[in-house]
Amino acid sequence: MTTTSGAPATAGLPLSSTQRLQIRDLLHQMWRALVVDITNLAVRFHSHEEPAVAARLAGVRRRLVDVESALNRLDSGSYGRCDGCERLIAFELLEAVPECRYCQRCQPR
Ligand SMILES: [Zn+2]
Repeated sequence: MTTTSGAPATAGLPLSSTQRLQIRDLLHQMWRALVVDITNLAVRFHSHEEPAVAARLAGVRRRLVDVESALNRLDSGSYGRCDGCERLIAFELLEAVPECRYCQRCQPR
């Protein structure tokens, strides 16, 4: 259970240590899943070299880089800050997309 008892839901505060642990956990899970994907896709690609597999491989690799950079930011303390406006990203968004670098307003789309 991760109910923050009594803590006000103030967007704009840095993550609590519980939240950081939760995010780190999520990122590690994603990292492991992506490494498995990459390994499987790489094996397939080496036996077939299909363009579709290459494209998927590139996509997974990009996500892995995103996840790793999120983990680095978590270590350096810059995690959770928007790359666009430098405001803190809402925890709900980080929880849903732990590797995201932009707040809701600055989402590139
Ligand atoms: Zn922003």
